[in-house]
Amino acid sequence: MTYSVKEIFYTLQGEGGNAGRPAVFCRFSGCNLWTGREQDRASAVCQFCDTEFVGTDGTLGGKFSTAEALALKITSLWPNSDKSNRFVVLTGGEPLLQVDEMLLEALHAQGFTIAVESNGTVKALKGIDWLCISPKAGAAGVDWVQKSGDELKIVWPQVGFTKADLDHFANSAELQFDNKYISPLDDITNNILHKDNIKACIQMCLDNPAWKLSLQTHKITGIR
Ligand code: SF4
Repeated sequence: MTYSVKEIFYTLQGEGGNAGRPAVFCRFSGCNLWTGREQDRASAVCQFCDTEFVGTDGTLGGKFSTAEALALKITSLWPNSDKSNRFVVLTGGEPLLQVDEMLLEALHAQGFTIAVESNGTVKALKGIDWLCISPKAGAAGVDWVQKSGDELKIVWPQVGFTKADLDHFANSAELQFDNKYISPLDDITNNILHKDNIKACIQMCLDNPAWKLSLQTHKITGIR
């Protein structure tokens, strides 16, 4: 297996239940819900993506021919030899198109707790320590196959999801998530004010307390 990686960097996790925790981010190239090309955005299943995931030309990006090689590169960014707090976030693009058992084993061998951020259209492997699923409206009901995990994160407001959908997600026995977050859409295409989306999310939490607010603190603090 050759892994295509857009970028690897050390920062703080900005969102969800691990917000504030130091983490190595490994962003895999490619997604199954958008090509990443602007000319395809309007026809994509997921149209509000704010992530660069095409190619392997980001910080420490590249092709890694073995799981061990990628795990060692990720380990090289950890600031000390203490293994007790090591934390890696495998993200994308859609990381589960590439993450396999060998990579999970290689990262665990280096002492990492492994978080994965997925759009839910690919079944997750066992061995992931923290699974965040963020389904996209265009794929819901058709391709949303991973319906359990540590956190469900809905970007809101999201075209294609209604308040009734969110009430259903909050209370459905079919969705087995320990935490349910809504995250304000940072709309890059329609010029909708982010602060209005934050207000909409706050109101959603107040109306249905199954939801918790997740802010993109990396954007607020100006870290990567
Ligand atoms: S699923 Fe995630 S990575 Fe893929 S296009 Fe949508 S927001 Fe971007």
